[in-house]
Amino acid sequence: MNSETHSPPRSPIVPIQLGPDERFRFRCHKGIACFNKCCQNIDITLTPYDIVRMKQHLGLSSREFIDRYTVDCELDSHGMPGLKLATKPGSTECVHLTPEGCGIYSDRPSACRYYALGLVSMRRKDSPVDEDSYFVVREAHCLGHDEPVEQTVAEYRHAQGCDEYDALNREWRQIVLKKRSSGPTVGRPSPRSFELFFLASYDIDGLRAFVASKRFQDLFDLPPTLMHEIMTDDVAMMKFGFRYLRQVLFGETSIPVKSAAEQERLERVRERAKDADERARRLSEDHDRMYGSLE
Ligand code: SF4
Ligand code: SF4
Repeated sequence: MNSETHSPPRSPIVPIQLGPDERFRFRCHKGIACFNKCCQNIDITLTPYDIVRMKQHLGLSSREFIDRYTVDCELDSHGMPGLKLATKPGSTECVHLTPEGCGIYSDRPSACRYYALGLVSMRRKDSPVDEDSYFVVREAHCLGHDEPVEQTVAEYRHAQGCDEYDALNREWRQIVLKKRSSGPTVGRPSPRSFELFFLASYDIDGLRAFVASKRFQDLFDLPPTLMHEIMTDDVAMMKFGFRYLRQVLFGETSIPVKSAAEQERLERVRERAKDADERARRLSEDHDRMYGSLE
């Protein structure tokens, strides 16, 4: 199984573009001769909501899930951090595959739900919304294409639970695209911006601890109802993480900064400026002394 659900499938997959109301022939079921063949050679890039669902299914913290069930990857040529679903040691087989099938089926990642479809999201220059199109992914081992069942793309996506995943991951995909192509950190992104991206994208429980910290609370003005929600609900925390990323990466202010904190920050800036003035004055005196001694 290939995780290219958000970009055109790679060879040997032959893409056939479809709209949401177009029909395609495909059916996957337990009795099929190729059952689980698609899980034996995986390359699945994970989204934030994939991780939330799987870590909840397994009763793990996000950090434990990341350590046990993912491997690092890069989402672009600048090294934007990504995570792939792990395979079994020395194998290309998914770590969640059991003799009975997928061990986390009800919470399987978006890429597994989409298969044998691929999704491509694009935004026209003058449009505020993404346009999605779909591809049938044909791999030789998959016999589902020979089954006598037809459905529209929309029907298939609905049956597989893709709508919920897409809705919850859409903002993150937009952040990834924007970080790749624009924003104040365009060019050479800083290691710190990648650390924040990783924390807010994948390590929901780490982000929660960061938001609860004095450092964060001293700076940001979060209403008690929002604090309660994000401290107790992973999806709320994930969505807040996207807001936070937009604020720190692109300067899109949606989380109010405490005015007192802002005052303190300004005070620190002034203090630093005063120190710099003092250093400049001393340098100037040294300079005068030096010229004086040469004359
Ligand atoms: S998560 Fe489940 S469906 Fe997806 S590749 Fe692994 S075993 Fe297969
Ligand atoms: S029909 Fe395709 S998707 Fe279903 S089990 Fe077989 S290889 Fe996997």
